[in-house]
Amino acid sequence: MTASTLVKGWCPGALRPMESGDGLLVRLRITGGVLSAKNTHIIAKASMQHGNGLIDLSSRANLQLRGVGDTNWPQLISELSRHGLIDQDPDAEAVRNVIASPLAGHNPTALIDIKPVVSALESRLIEDRALHALPGKFGFLVDDGGAFGVAGQTADIAFEAEKHGDETLFNVRLGNAETVALIAPEQAPNAAAALALAFLKTSKNRDKPFKKMVDCVNEFGLISLFETAGLKRLERRAQRQSVSPALGWHSLREFSFLGIGAPFGRWSANSLSALADIAAKHGKNELRLTPWRAILLPGLDENAAKLAIEHAGPNYITNADDNRLRVAACPGRPSCKNATVHTHNDALAFADLRTLEGRSGIRLHVSGCEKGCAHPASTNIVLVGRNGLYDLILNGKASDAPIQSGLNRQTAGIAIERALEGVKR
Ligand code: SF4
Repeated sequence: MTASTLVKGWCPGALRPMESGDGLLVRLRITGGVLSAKNTHIIAKASMQHGNGLIDLSSRANLQLRGVGDTNWPQLISELSRHGLIDQDPDAEAVRNVIASPLAGHNPTALIDIKPVVSALESRLIEDRALHALPGKFGFLVDDGGAFGVAGQTADIAFEAEKHGDETLFNVRLGNAETVALIAPEQAPNAAAALALAFLKTSKNRDKPFKKMVDCVNEFGLISLFETAGLKRLERRAQRQSVSPALGWHSLREFSFLGIGAPFGRWSANSLSALADIAAKHGKNELRLTPWRAILLPGLDENAAKLAIEHAGPNYITNADDNRLRVAACPGRPSCKNATVHTHNDALAFADLRTLEGRSGIRLHVSGCEKGCAHPASTNIVLVGRNGLYDLILNGKASDAPIQSGLNRQTAGIAIERALEGVKR
């Protein structure tokens, strides 16, 4: 593998696509994860016409059109631009990394409707060119305080709605720090910009600029960063645990929705179109994209949800107990040219292992190489492809040193079962 093919920290977009094993990867950042049925059809059709008809939903709730040909790319961009799905320039696109509570605006348990905040924050990120110097993966999060929110997901700067007496305020959290600053919701874009500029200022004269807010906090201190950004009202607030994927049918008082997932976030253009039809006929005419790689269909009643589940069939995930949710896998071979193993096929085989049953969270990470794109955090078991076989790492990341090498699918399965037997459920 050469340095040019293993680029860490660079985040592709639509205007700066990434060359991959199956063609160009074109990433679309959908504001607030809110995708109308009409735009879903447009994206699905474009994926079939100009790509290979496969669309990955990333852990930042972005859509990644795969297999786009060099010669098709300009036409794809022009079609998506016509429908307002593309940014004006690549720098604005790269900085617009915001994840948001996916049921915003519908959720009766939410403390506020964060959609206007998310739009204002994105506008600020686009318009303030000083912020375009942020690292490619620097991310923001906005949580509405309701059920099925995104608090607890990884972000450099998070805004989490919470009641403080009679007021609903945002806790502003840097990384996973427990001391937060309190602000009124309408101050979020200014606070985000001030904190991001403070991050850039402290990072500026270093030999190795910071990539993440947590590194900056560790070196310069949380309080001094808040002070630099003019945020003075500080309190301790433990970070909320991130929620399990909202799969299956759920009702929240008068509102209901269906959550449906694709193994490892890989959707076909046809299946997205089918979801758009269901949303138009039975729901609120829109899809909501989530960072747990599932898609929510707001407004479906229980009968409509049953029909949708039947229609989806066993290839899709509609139950939070599904073993496939315990496994993270990157696209692997042939989608990525860094891979020598078929990660998706192998991960599906490993997901059948009984020892994964009844567990929660991701327990196994199957990675095509040490870059570990699918799951940057530590996992009980990590299998990393090398020369067509797997290295085994326990309780670590894909880049850690392996304890065993040269495993095929069968011997890797045995190693997984042995390793998980000793791990608490
Ligand atoms: S982790 Fe997977 S997707 Fe990422 S570069 Fe390696 S093989 Fe490719």
